[in-house]
Amino acid sequence: MRARYESFFRRSLDEREAFWREQAELIHWEKPFDQVCDDSKLPFANWFVGGTTNLCYNSVDRHLAERADQPAIIWVSTEQEREEKITYRQLHEQVNALAAVLQEQGVVKGDRVLIYMPMIPEALVAMLACVRLGIIHSVVFGGFASHALASRIDDAKPKMVITADAGLRGGKAVNYKPLLKKGMNEAMADAPMVLTVNRGVATEAVEIPGELDYATEMAKHAGAVVDPVWVESSHPSYILYTSGTTGKPKGVQRDTGGHAVAMRASLKHIYGVEPGETMFSGSDIGWVVGHSYIVYAPLLTGATTIVYEGLPIRPDPGIWWRIVQDHKVNCLFTSPTAIRLLKKSGEEWIHKYDLSSMRSLFLAGEPLDKETHRWVMDALKCPVVDNYWQTETGWPILTNFMGLGLMELKHGSPSLPAYGYDVILVDEQTAQPVGPNQKGSLMIRPPLPPGCMTTVYGDDERFVSTYFSRFKEPLYATFDYAMYDEDGYYFIMGRDDDVINVAGHRMGTREVEEALCLHPAVAEAAAVGIKDEIKGQEIEAFVVLMANVEPPTTDELRQSVARELGPIAKPKYLHIVTSLPKTRSGKVIRRAIQSLAEGGDPGDLPTIEDATVLDQIRGAVKDRS
Ligand code: ATP
Ligand code: MG
Repeated sequence: MRARYESFFRRSLDEREAFWREQAELIHWEKPFDQVCDDSKLPFANWFVGGTTNLCYNSVDRHLAERADQPAIIWVSTEQEREEKITYRQLHEQVNALAAVLQEQGVVKGDRVLIYMPMIPEALVAMLACVRLGIIHSVVFGGFASHALASRIDDAKPKMVITADAGLRGGKAVNYKPLLKKGMNEAMADAPMVLTVNRGVATEAVEIPGELDYATEMAKHAGAVVDPVWVESSHPSYILYTSGTTGKPKGVQRDTGGHAVAMRASLKHIYGVEPGETMFSGSDIGWVVGHSYIVYAPLLTGATTIVYEGLPIRPDPGIWWRIVQDHKVNCLFTSPTAIRLLKKSGEEWIHKYDLSSMRSLFLAGEPLDKETHRWVMDALKCPVVDNYWQTETGWPILTNFMGLGLMELKHGSPSLPAYGYDVILVDEQTAQPVGPNQKGSLMIRPPLPPGCMTTVYGDDERFVSTYFSRFKEPLYATFDYAMYDEDGYYFIMGRDDDVINVAGHRMGTREVEEALCLHPAVAEAAAVGIKDEIKGQEIEAFVVLMANVEPPTTDELRQSVARELGPIAKPKYLHIVTSLPKTRSGKVIRRAIQSLAEGGDPGDLPTIEDATVLDQIRGAVKDRS
């Protein structure tokens, strides 16, 4: 398997044109491209130059001949206790009707539409109707508050917002309309039109002048046929913001042709999902995993995608496994956080269900600690693939390959570089490439492969200055710190601006956190570096314990790090807390912890899940001296 991977990978870089020309055959081109990659203006790259295509046509129309009656979407809502199957034919009808609505309202190619919706099928219909017409969508995670909405409205200047009366979370309504109204008032941009799916679940209603009702408009256009607008390959398909873990979210812009090819190819080679099979990504359409692996990759493939509205532990921690059993899911994709949450509830939930359809579990978004990796792989008895990527790239940079042939899986490692990525690890000071078992900044030599961000929306200059100006040579910075072993397997050590330097010893936050997680009583940990007069920095750690364990002393936990990594890595301070500050997508916000630990202000945290968690950190830090 390794030989097959090596030749596939080498060819993607050494014979780039031929390699991607072949991959491009996986989608329909209305007009063939004349050039595979224009890299004359690096770091900007233009893929499949001269070709025209359409994302919606490739995701829906193209499958009608063979799979009109196959479900495209299976919607499962544990919030409304409902399930619904939408075939490719029905999806085609709905997308066409909505495209007709957009046309009637004068929304055209190049305009932006903001989608602020819960996990309901209409959200996917909205995304597809937009790209059918060459309209650029900007999906905002449902439940982000008004300020996040306002800044995204000002950035994208949308002509229309498609929303719902409310989302549901843990049995409670999240009323979208009051948040949207407030966001629109706060925004400077012209007020967009509003089209609302009225589910009848809101507990607070507000009027927005001129608002259109989704059901009424769709009924007017039932049976409409709207030809797809063929757009040039480089035409933007969507804008999506990064999670905001390390600072202000960045607006990632993606093209159409490269995106379609990358999505279709990744489902085949990496995830190993074939047409007619079923994929379940337990994420949200507001994040990149949702865009790529709930919506575009499965639909471009002609697979069935599960759209889940609900929590992973409600009505009980067996819900995802029940969905896998009932709908014969072949590939499940979620985050390490979700698996750690399920791990806390115990393995018995997994064994209650027949999971024989499931060939693999993919996890991404943050470090997958060794212990959790081992646990979930033992419990599921199927490969669990850690894959590392970013909103910016849209698909894995480092991964293992179910489609090409699975290679050895090492706990704690997202395996090897994906085809198309010329990954290079460099010393963050000298910019020189580092060898095996040495730590460095993870960079990518341009051009970035198809499907990756083409620019920062509306700001080419920021694209270059943010991502390509780390060193003299214009390399793409992932802002992550990593290492590879003798077999070429990578290990992500944390964010590179979070590297802790204790008396000249550089350590990734992940190393300390991983060492803490090896202690059986520890569920989660966050480590940060704090200023120290003598050593430069000292380590301060925050630990969440497993439920129902005898709490260890903080000293015992500090000692266990020293045992794993040596005395230099022993945290000077360690606190046991009940939760860590996280983004809405479940990532630990270390910069907030660090500023509090250094006696500062946590700063502006627009994407934080629960700001009250910060009080505990503040309290812990205050009590230490
Ligand atoms: P922002 O860029 O706004 O600060 P963010 O980096 O968290 O936020 P995302 O694009 O959602 O935004 O996340 C990508 C980052 O998540 C990666 O750069 C990396 O730090 C982390 N990550 C993703 N997958 C993995 C993985 N498998 N292992 C370790 N870290 C991962
Ligand atoms: Mg990032």
